[in-house]
Amino acid sequence: MIIHAHYTHSLISALIISIIAGLIAWRFWGKRGSIVISSVVFSHWLLDLLVHRADMAILPRAFGNFPLLGLGLWKLPIISMGVELALVIIGSILYYRSLVPKAKGNQRKHAIAAGGLMAILLILSLVTSVFGV
Ligand SMILES: [Zn+2]
Repeated sequence: MIIHAHYTHSLISALIISIIAGLIAWRFWGKRGSIVISSVVFSHWLLDLLVHRADMAILPRAFGNFPLLGLGLWKLPIISMGVELALVIIGSILYYRSLVPKAKGNQRKHAIAAGGLMAILLILSLVTSVFGV
């Protein structure tokens, strides 16, 4: 499958979206939160670069006829699924280690529930994308 998302998935668009997300986050969570949020948003493009076939543009709307990017891990579904599952597990562990120990009382319960729900949704998303459910 080739995805034509030359606006949202171009390198420059991803950088702009990441900066905007970081600026919004700065207002609520300060400099550190801004860096974390903008990095997380941009990580989508980096992770897509790993799995997409060469269908990711550098400039919005694939302007300039530059080569399209993508390392094509989706061509190897079992390996792709393993890498994506590992990323969900690693992300869940990082989330748990960075947030849950600092949270107290109900915040702790909410943090665990939110992290668990997100991990379940990501695994379901992985299963549906691999098996086409
Ligand atoms: Zn994407």
